[in-house]
Amino acid sequence: MRASRYLIATQKETPADAEIISHQLMLRAGMIRKLAAGLYTWLPMGLRTLRKVERIVREEMDKSGAQEVLMPAVQPAELWQESGRWTQYGGELLRMNDRHGRDFCFGPTHEEVITDLIRNELKSYKELPANFYQIQTKFRDERRPRFGVMRAREFIMKDAYSFHLNAESLDETYQVMHRTYCAIFDRLGLEYRPVQADSGAIGGSASHEFHVLASSGEDDIVFSTDSDYAANIEKAEAVAPAGERPAPGESMQDVATPDQRTIEAVATFLGIDATRTVKTLLVKGEADESGQAGLVALVLRGDHTLNEIKAENLAGVAEPLTMATDEEIEKAVGCKAGSIGPVNLPVPVIVDRSAAHLADFVCGANRDGYHLTGVNWERDVAIDRVEDLRNVVEGDPSPDGKGTLEIRRGIEVGHIFKLGNKYSTAMNATVLDENGKSVVMDMGCYGIGVSRIVAASIEQNHDDKGIIWPDAIAPFQVAIVTLNAHKSPTVAEAGEKLYEQLRQAGYDVLLDDRNERPGVKFADMELIGIPHRFVVSDRGLAAGTLEYKGRRDEEKQDVPVAEALPFLV
Ligand code: ATP
Ligand code: MG
Ligand code: MG
Ligand code: MG
Repeated sequence: MRASRYLIATQKETPADAEIISHQLMLRAGMIRKLAAGLYTWLPMGLRTLRKVERIVREEMDKSGAQEVLMPAVQPAELWQESGRWTQYGGELLRMNDRHGRDFCFGPTHEEVITDLIRNELKSYKELPANFYQIQTKFRDERRPRFGVMRAREFIMKDAYSFHLNAESLDETYQVMHRTYCAIFDRLGLEYRPVQADSGAIGGSASHEFHVLASSGEDDIVFSTDSDYAANIEKAEAVAPAGERPAPGESMQDVATPDQRTIEAVATFLGIDATRTVKTLLVKGEADESGQAGLVALVLRGDHTLNEIKAENLAGVAEPLTMATDEEIEKAVGCKAGSIGPVNLPVPVIVDRSAAHLADFVCGANRDGYHLTGVNWERDVAIDRVEDLRNVVEGDPSPDGKGTLEIRRGIEVGHIFKLGNKYSTAMNATVLDENGKSVVMDMGCYGIGVSRIVAASIEQNHDDKGIIWPDAIAPFQVAIVTLNAHKSPTVAEAGEKLYEQLRQAGYDVLLDDRNERPGVKFADMELIGIPHRFVVSDRGLAAGTLEYKGRRDEEKQDVPVAEALPFLV
């Protein structure tokens, strides 16, 4: 590619609204442009890298035996009603109507569509196991889209779904996917960790997340110093030994994560997907003698919203107070904020507020640890639940008894999950077994954030000059910078010749033939992060040399013109 004919949309200034380095550099290097919140255009430079990430993902998925499909982004509501997720999924689901008024959504994930396809296509156990994947655009109406393509609303995901006759077969494919993910992230040159993740209400089935280690990551991951134990914080909290009780005055939000049994019980009661409920604080009161429920406050954090709670489960039970004002909460709870006595509600009340806010609201200013003003927390607000709460901190012994725990920040770039028969039961996806008996299939699902990987890679590979791409996903592997080519036909000709030679050898080459000052060209090539750079100048040619500099090199070096290609190899 000739830079003079290519969109080099670099920017000197750091964009004001870009908080993290990858977002800043993707904008400055001319890889992406924002259209609206969480919506980005990939410019030619950025798209080259995105496509290379896709290619690596595709090659390894193909190698694993998975079959590529491409499903529609727009999905009919009927399938989501069948699985139950139409009412459960919440605010991230972008819903829409067609001209006939029929309900559709823009797919945030494709379990329903693939299950519908496979229940029609596969008939016999002989066709199992089977794994289908796609690399495709997803839409999630994230509550807080941010960090550019890292947490976008529209983004590219590789999602795969496997189908099995039994749990052993699912386990085998799950292990194959685990290995495939490691192969993918190795080839991408990322420093990453697979960690155990909570599999929630779906049962004892397994789940792992793959995290790229970076301080800008939004997740906490927990390692043991002396064993292979690694888990995301929710999972670690679910299995770690009980932590310290909070100090007086410490915010409940810091310490309160409900145990898995509680999550599952409440999730079942409310008809919500417990796998998405792990980031909740539950405060539950016991019913009194009259059978009235005490205070039930489910504080929803993160991207979990009240829309996920099935309407029928609340009908006649409670009026959910989404983002309710203090006055509204007071009215429902029956007493004033900060001065709550023993609370008895005729109905459960669900308050979609931050845990800290609720803690303050319930406890008031005179909070003393868990002893509330006018309320003995231990008596009135079921302390047995609170005692189950975990609080993993750095330096704790680990759950497997080896070493102590270390906590690092991670970016979730992949997630594999044993779904079991959640979707296949709901949607009646069966095959005939050896005896001609109809059996519900087991399923697994496997996601990779393809577009997120581009940003995650930059978080790990940059310096004060810009991006430093690994060769595997660099938009161009080699930059040829010609100096004064507009005045020197010798330089122009030598540049063209090298360009052709490297291209013939299979390299992605950017010939910077722009009529710009050398400093501008060098800065751009470094900002864009091209791993190898040759400079063609009159002075060098007179000595029969080109100047070479690797993007991570401190020093430049002269390379004889004829040896440029062997030098790269
Ligand atoms: P997160 O915890 O970051 O919100 P998730 O757990 O909701 O991610 P999954 O449902 O596991 O995401 O989807 C599979 C993969 O898709 C994730 O591991 C992540 O890499 C990617 N992904 C999810 N949400 C986004 C997003 N908003 N923007 C870019 N990539 C995303
Ligand atoms: Mg999410
Ligand atoms: Mg996640
Ligand atoms: Mg996930």
